[in-house]
Amino acid sequence: MRRAKIVATLGPALDEPDTLQAALEAGIDIVRLNFSHGEAETHARRLEMVREISVKIGRNVGSLADLQGPKIRLGNLPDEGVDVPVGSEVYLQPGRDELDEYSSGGHASLPVVYEKLANDVEPGALVLIDDGSIRLVVSRHDRGGVWARVVAGGLAKSKKGVNLPGVQVSAPSLTEKDLEDLDTAVRIGADWLALSFVRTAEDMINAGKQIEERGGESPTIAKLERPEAIENLSDVIAASDAVMVARGDLGVEIGPERVPAIQKEIIAEANAAAKPVITATEMLESMINSPRATRAEASDVANAIFDGTDAVMLSGETAAGRYPVDAVRTMARIIEVAESSPHLLHPNPDWQKDPEEMGLSRIVARAACQVALDVNAAALVVYSISGHSIQVVSKYRPGVPLLGLTPSESTRRRTALMWGTEAGLVPMKEQQVDLTNSAERVLVDGDWARAGDLVVVVSGRPGGMGGTNRIMVHRVGDPVLR
Ligand code: PEP
Repeated sequence: MRRAKIVATLGPALDEPDTLQAALEAGIDIVRLNFSHGEAETHARRLEMVREISVKIGRNVGSLADLQGPKIRLGNLPDEGVDVPVGSEVYLQPGRDELDEYSSGGHASLPVVYEKLANDVEPGALVLIDDGSIRLVVSRHDRGGVWARVVAGGLAKSKKGVNLPGVQVSAPSLTEKDLEDLDTAVRIGADWLALSFVRTAEDMINAGKQIEERGGESPTIAKLERPEAIENLSDVIAASDAVMVARGDLGVEIGPERVPAIQKEIIAEANAAAKPVITATEMLESMINSPRATRAEASDVANAIFDGTDAVMLSGETAAGRYPVDAVRTMARIIEVAESSPHLLHPNPDWQKDPEEMGLSRIVARAACQVALDVNAAALVVYSISGHSIQVVSKYRPGVPLLGLTPSESTRRRTALMWGTEAGLVPMKEQQVDLTNSAERVLVDGDWARAGDLVVVVSGRPGGMGGTNRIMVHRVGDPVLR
């Protein structure tokens, strides 16, 4: 049984219903709608298809809407691209979607959609285009734009990303486009909402308010890809419901050589905060064009599991690759083998905690995992309305199967991101006896347990929110006393 979860990005490669079904059956737990590409209606249609198929095949699949954030991009360029030779000077024109001429007087001109580019950069600032494959150094300001010397040349293409490492970008954390996309995400009921280029805890608090104002209730995911977010790591994690190690832009901003250690630091901090963490980008990159992963990629996925990540993510591999289903299968296999390895170390969410600060939900969660192991329980069942108790128990990495039960369909879908969690829907429970009886029904019907098996049931005051405070050991088939 695989326990770490798979997030897969939707895109043209999964638009065929049969392919999507095969990929969901191969193990996608969360689909990612990448709002950097595509129209609102395309995302809505894709999510609808995922929900229909997941009901048909009986898998709990959640969704994640990923907002583009203040990503700086080139504008539109001619189809053949614009040559930017090393040693030359290019003129960057801010706030432009396209230009009349892309070269004049032997110099390339590039439109950059971000209006405040010239305000934000000083001479000497580095400008990286297309994940750093083209590198420029700003030389001077001129007529509202900037001149830059090319230190690594290449062919610039339409809409490629532009990074300004070390520059305090003044763009708001949620752009006009993000606010429109947020309307769409709330309307279609995305289960998680990810924000790109987060800098501070305030960015996350503000996003939460915007979601609430729109009547949404999706929890937020901070994509950690800016150096400022790494500097403010504990505060950003505290203000988020989950985080993503967004290694693509992170690697461009701080240099790829620093990514592995920062990945470990983020995962450890997220585990200490009992918040889900996703490790993302280029995990099986070569599978965009090849049916087999490289050894290095297999090691990368396995090492993220060894680091204690809750989920790993596929991007271009499933959105636009030639082998989307194979990529999901490969990832699932790598996780399963890593999880059965003697090298797997379970994270300890309490490594930084004073026992007095732990709070009841952690104390109950930790104790329940120990009890389940000691009685050799067939399953550990957690009843939760918001999903919080399920998430905390998942963080203690129970050694027995974990079944989350909830009366809320959106909570059930959200738990698809949580390590080791299977989830079932049950009616709202007022009495402990009803809860135990319906847990027993789900366990027996789903082949989790049979008569005579011991199971551990964690719950709070039935019918209420929060306050998880009960651990019960129950033998399947025994009557439950009121
Ligand atoms: C990343 O940069 O690693 C990432 C996940 O973001 P995106 O794919 O939106 O660039």
